[in-house]
Amino acid sequence: MPNTLLKDGTVISFDEATKSIKVLEKASILIKGDRIARISENANDIDLPADVEVVDVSGKIISPGFTNTHSHMWQTAYRSMAPNCTLTQYLVWISQMASAARSFTPDDIYISCLEGYLEAINSGVTTVVEHANQHWDESVFEPAYNAAVDGGARVWYCFGVNDQPHYSEATQYEGLARLQQRKDDSRGLVSLGIALDSILQMDKEKVEKTKALIKQMHLQAITLHVLGGPWFRGNASSSPTALSDHGFQDLDIPIIFSHGPFVTSTDRDALRKHNWNLAITPESELHYGHGHKTSKLVLDQASLGVDTNFTFSGDMLAQTRLFLQHTRGEQYATTLDAAKIPQNCPFDVEEAFLLVTRHGGLAVRTEDVGVLREGAKADIVVVDGESPNMLGWTNAVAALVLHANVGDIEHVLVDGEFRKRDRKLVLKKGDWGDISKRFASTARRIQEEHKAGRPNLEGEVMGMELGEVESISTRR
Ligand SMILES: [Zn+2]
Repeated sequence: MPNTLLKDGTVISFDEATKSIKVLEKASILIKGDRIARISENANDIDLPADVEVVDVSGKIISPGFTNTHSHMWQTAYRSMAPNCTLTQYLVWISQMASAARSFTPDDIYISCLEGYLEAINSGVTTVVEHANQHWDESVFEPAYNAAVDGGARVWYCFGVNDQPHYSEATQYEGLARLQQRKDDSRGLVSLGIALDSILQMDKEKVEKTKALIKQMHLQAITLHVLGGPWFRGNASSSPTALSDHGFQDLDIPIIFSHGPFVTSTDRDALRKHNWNLAITPESELHYGHGHKTSKLVLDQASLGVDTNFTFSGDMLAQTRLFLQHTRGEQYATTLDAAKIPQNCPFDVEEAFLLVTRHGGLAVRTEDVGVLREGAKADIVVVDGESPNMLGWTNAVAALVLHANVGDIEHVLVDGEFRKRDRKLVLKKGDWGDISKRFASTARRIQEEHKAGRPNLEGEVMGMELGEVESISTRR
């Protein structure tokens, strides 16, 4: 394992004593193997191992790697094909439930997922909670997992078990057991979990059986979608309250609920009581109209995600910025509706930053991910502080959340190893020329096959009553 000294940068460290961010100017980080061994404001105070590589990071901002707690990487090949699509159109047209998904070959799935993980690393995302719902066929089961391993990020890989006539649930569990027995060199970075949207169709007996299987297989996380309100008849059986009533807390593993725009106060209590997490995906929730009306009330148990990167940016700094300012806007609106002018700013930039770093680690109950402190995992992003859009910063956190873009991300380390260096990906496996060619060809073919299929929907879809939305236009 390599030893590296990141020397003399501005370090956004985390102070465990006060549970808050502590920015250290001109500090150095010694990485030994996969962990941060020392952080010091005086590089001369650090005892260096003989084989250390010293990397000068003066003028740069050193941040914990960003976390994305909700993604569906197989969909990356759809990139840009559905910019004006509603959620129900997506579900009927190109989701895992639609026949369109069947046109992915095993190689398409692999390359689509791999490109998704590489996009993440390129933009400084080092931890991903993958909701792997490409569950239509055995042939695409393993390629998606292989891409998670080969991508090089830290991944909680949660496969969406979903019983189907030609691909039984039993076969899917066997597949999960097979993955668990694999001894890849990189297995340490990929944890296996389960995605449980199928709970919507389960009776009590089935839920108990599923819980027993999760325990027996030592799965390390559960993730599932929950919307509530008018969506999917309230999603009542996938809510935190429902899982609490079923006693999922007894499994004592992380549970990440995605979206939660209509979580009730009982749901929020359950999240807090059982230390479960809500993955808020700012851009997708604005695009599809879920909003953040109640999810923002439980930010102490929340983190941020992308959802699906074929329509939404994989850049978590962009997602964070969007969430910060949209939430501020909503808070201000209440004051303005009362004909008053805001006297305070309701949501601090530091808190938004914690949502996309430390809270991502806490979502998977991992205290040493998403923070820079001695003993933590060396998942680190080095950001150029001297680009035209960054120059002049004095507040490192504000500079990242409000001004940085992917082009500023110079180095990315995962588990102590460079995965991006000098703005170029350092691939764990394969060659970028080959990967990019294969991905582009897959994306073109799949998009060509489906471009004409977007349905116009009216009336009722999947038990949901559709209502017309007033359109707006630049045209007169
Ligand atoms: Zn999702």
